[in-house]
Formats: sequence, structure tokens, C-alpha cells
Amino acid sequence: MSLASPVAPRLQPNGLRLLAALEAMAEVGAQPDGSICRRGFSPEDRQGRELLGSWLLQAGLTARVDSAGNLIARREGSEPHLPALVTGSHLDTVPTGGRYDGALGVIAGLEVLRCLQDCEHQLRHPLELVVFADEESTMVGCKGMTGAASADPDAYTTSNGESIERNLAHLGGDWAHLAEARRSDGEIAAFLELHVEQGGVLEQRQHTIGVVEGVVGQRRFTIRVQGQANHAGTTPMHDRQDALVAASQVVLAVQQLAAGHPGQPVATVGRLDVWPNAANVVPGEVVLSVDLRDLSSAVLNALERGLRQQLQRIEASSGCRLVIEPQFEVQPTPADPTVMATIARCAADLGYSASPLPSRASHDAQEMGRRWPMGMIFVPSHRGLSHSAAEFTSLEQCLAGTSVLLASLLQLDRALDPGRDP
Ligand SMILES: [Zn+2]
Repeated sequence: MSLASPVAPRLQPNGLRLLAALEAMAEVGAQPDGSICRRGFSPEDRQGRELLGSWLLQAGLTARVDSAGNLIARREGSEPHLPALVTGSHLDTVPTGGRYDGALGVIAGLEVLRCLQDCEHQLRHPLELVVFADEESTMVGCKGMTGAASADPDAYTTSNGESIERNLAHLGGDWAHLAEARRSDGEIAAFLELHVEQGGVLEQRQHTIGVVEGVVGQRRFTIRVQGQANHAGTTPMHDRQDALVAASQVVLAVQQLAAGHPGQPVATVGRLDVWPNAANVVPGEVVLSVDLRDLSSAVLNALERGLRQQLQRIEASSGCRLVIEPQFEVQPTPADPTVMATIARCAADLGYSASPLPSRASHDAQEMGRRWPMGMIFVPSHRGLSHSAAEFTSLEQCLAGTSVLLASLLQLDRALDPGRDP
């Protein structure tokens, strides 16, 4: 018997291959300080996509670019009429990005495709890997796919200052036909994204897998506190309408609203503009921002109600006028219960510790989940750091996430049927 007898490849991710791809991708846009700069539409962004394209080709797969600049690889299933299972993430980064944010989800999807190709394992559903365009900035890729992308070119603020038309052309997209990137309801069965947590919850819990409950909604307000500017020396304390003192009460009220809520909402005053901002003048006006986030619209409603009540109370006691102006609102995107349960079961079957948690950052999955059943798998971020050179997730954790992604896709492939509510 020959010791060199071939061993049938097993349907499980290859850790060394995963690591090699992560490292090779991290070379693209590598900066001297260890961070990675692959801004959306930049030459480095294109280079990263070309590298992925070459790996797909080696695996016997081809990819196309849709009009919204999304790179889409597709592997047909045995029942080609079925809607596609879709996974993916982004390759673009912030200016000082890490090597895992976005890239992990793409390279894990590649590893899933490579495993299936190696084992010649055919799924029932087509399987697609998507590299979404410009996630860190305009999100034109995922919004183009869901049909939520604005048709007004002036609505896009791109990181290189070039028009969205020119930028899409850089990636092989086509602004004039942006609407064609929209996929119909029946084309996609479910969307799964593996991503680093970008927070410290999993590490604190010492859990390997996060089963994402959804992407939080957000409400942003501007609050104008109008008092009376006056001489800091000659104005007695009882006769002041000090806008900064009133604004300070708003800051505390916002903190207490979220901290005192039984759930896990977060609320932040991140900006204060004080006028005239001079040491010898009682502040006459303060403009501040309030940012509220939670998974539940009901909780956001309660926080907003509480905020408005507090503003009335502070107005009555301070003698200042407080005006609240809504800036924008993003609805929460809950994960699909079936997809969530599948991820949780696969993590347990593979022996990984796992727990549910919300995503407090934006992702491509947030947009995809507005149209199709969505699930996200988180793996730990060391010390909760992200968008920095210090971003780190161990190979074991990356491999665990990829294993759960593969198992979940296989499970959904067996379980999902068109025409039957999943
Ligand atoms: Zn990301």
C-alpha cells in the first residue's frame, strides 16, 4: 500500500490557506505604521479586488462586476431555479484600517467556495460571494443591490472627492445603469456576513462566536441651547441664562437616559459648540449633538420621549430656550430568526462558545437585511480595537468564524425552500 495514497479532501476550511489569503490581502495598501489604506475606489481597492479575482480564477470560478461596482462570484447549484445563498463583505478600508474589518468576510467566503470546489460538493442553491463597493463611505454597493441607492450623484460624498460616476467607472461599475444592480426579491434566499466584532463584548465573555441579533437603529439630533451672553464679572449668579450650564444638564440627562434603561441602548453627546467660547463671557449659546442607538424602535421611541421631557424640564429650570432638531434616522435591521438559530446551532455543533449580541456599527448586512433574510457572525476583536493598525483576531478565531459560516450555509442550503416561509 502506498503511503502517498490520495486522501479525499474534507469539507472544512483550510486554516493555512485562510491565513495566507488574509496575509496577502493585508499587503495591499499596507502602511509603514502597520495599518492598511484601501479607500473605496482607490488603486489599492482595485488591486485587492484583482487579487481576489485571481484566486477565484485559480479555483475555477469567475466573477462579474454589477453596475453598483459590486464584485460577484457565483457557483451554480443543482437546482438552478432556486434563489442564491449570498455571503460577502467589503475590501475597502478607512484611511488607517486594520487587516480584518471587511477582508475577513470576503476571504472566508472565498475559503468556503474553495472548499466546495475541492470537494466537488454541489449545493442545491447557487452560492454567491459579493465584495460590496465602498462600504466605509457611500455604501453604494449594498444600497445599489437592494435598490436603496440615491439616484442623485450629489448625494454621495466620496473619500477621493471625485464624482460617484467616475468612481464607479474605476471599479467597472456604471452609474448610468445603477438601477440594474437591484436584485429582485426572488433572486436571494439569505445573506450571511462574517465580520470582526469591532467591540470588546466577545472577548470579555470569552466567547468565540457572536450570533448577531441585528444592526442597531440610530437617531441623531442637534440641540440648540439659547441663553444670554453677558459679562462674566458683572453678571450675578442668580441673574444668568448660562447656555453651557443648561447644556451640561443635557449631557448628564442623555447619559442617564441610556444608562438607566433596562436594555442596552447607548446615547452620546459627541459634539459641543460653545458661543462665544471666551473665558470672560457667560456662554450665550451652545449647539450639541445627541446620538441614540438601539436594536429596537420601541426603545428608541422611549429614549426620544425621555430626551424631550428632560429638555422641557431643563428649559423650565434654566431660563434658557432649548430647541431640538432631528438630523437623521436609521431604522434597526433585525437578523432573521431562522438564520440566527442556524448560526447558533452550527456554532454549538462545532464546539464553539457563542452568544447573541447586537451590532452597533454599520455593515453591508444592515442594508441586505432590509430586503432578504440576514444573519451575521462575529468573531472577537482583541481589546475591542478596530479601524486601526492594532486590529487583531487570531487565526483560530478567524477559522472558527469561517467554519461556522460554511456550516451555516450548508445547513441553510438543506433547510430553505422557495415558496416556503423560512
Ligand atoms: Zn466592515
